[in-house]
Amino acid sequence: MTERSRPDTPASPDLQPTPRKRRPPRRVEVSRVQVLSPAMRRITLTGAELQGFEVSDPASYLKLIFPEPGQTEPDRPLPDGPRAKSMRTYTPLAVRPDACEVDIDFVLHGEGPASTWAAQAQVGQVLFLMGPGPGYKPSPDAPLHLLIGDDSALPAFETILAALPATAAVQVLVEVADAAEERPLHSPAALSAQWLARGADNRQAGTALEAALRQSGAPAADARIYLACEADAMRRIRRLLSDALGVPRSQIVGRGYWKLGAVNHPDHDYGEDA
Ligand SMILES: Cc1cc2nc3c(=O)[nH]c(=O)nc-3n(C[C@H](O)[C@H](O)[C@H](O)COP(=O)(O)OP(=O)(O)OC[C@H]3O[C@@H](n4cnc5c(N)ncnc54)[C@H](O)[C@@H]3O)c2cc1C
Repeated sequence: MTERSRPDTPASPDLQPTPRKRRPPRRVEVSRVQVLSPAMRRITLTGAELQGFEVSDPASYLKLIFPEPGQTEPDRPLPDGPRAKSMRTYTPLAVRPDACEVDIDFVLHGEGPASTWAAQAQVGQVLFLMGPGPGYKPSPDAPLHLLIGDDSALPAFETILAALPATAAVQVLVEVADAAEERPLHSPAALSAQWLARGADNRQAGTALEAALRQSGAPAADARIYLACEADAMRRIRRLLSDALGVPRSQIVGRGYWKLGAVNHPDHDYGEDA
């Protein structure tokens, strides 16, 4: 996706973007739960209402609405009703339109309606799904792609890896809690991956990524970078890449996927203020 931010100052009325149309919520049921690692669950959602749900770009996103405390099933959101309190952003990892199925990988990070729901998820439980929202279009001509981020971005990285051409090279730098979270990655492109351990303390988010980047030095001049992790860490790493390592800002796409201490961090934090 070409990088676009929401303007800080409103454009003239002629140039106002059309408000994003909310797509209808789709009722889905859990049909499979897989334990990928101690802190990662792959959950397959299915249902007739997924008919027509398709995703064109890698690293797209969707919204999931989880049950409120005391509910077994979330209320179906009304078209013009208030936003559900327990709506969170996730990456459609694999979409199988013919089977009306979507796979989603959840990090079990601790508190939060999404993480606590995923930790107990069972076949037959119901959520509402909305979207998809736009993703990332990796430049087909770039000889080198760098994917830098944490476990919350692993699903996005996997969709990008699958979309790269065999002529490209890709380096993945990913921070997870510990070695038990590592897993094989695949791509048609020439792939190298480096796994970094953050430890159990989420306040250290991004520290290992920054240290590894400082150590490895400037990436190749024409590298295209997708950077997605904790929001403040993303800003620090953006600055490190552009100020200290000389990467042109136009070659970096930043995404804050979550924010330390913040609930439901927005899906459009691009860190361009960094
Ligand atoms: C475009 C996009 C795609 C995303 N795709 C995925 C995905 O595929 N899989 C995935 O697991 N996440 C993904 N995320 C991140 C996910 O939306 C957030 O982690 C979300 O906050 C989880 O909601 P929650 O209810 O568990 O926690 P919240 O109620 O939002 O937050 C509760 C507390 O948990 C902390 N917290 C939230 N997320 C994390 C985390 N990952 N690690 C450590 N602490 C955390 C917060 O700082 C807060 O203190 C994506 C985010 C975006 C913007």
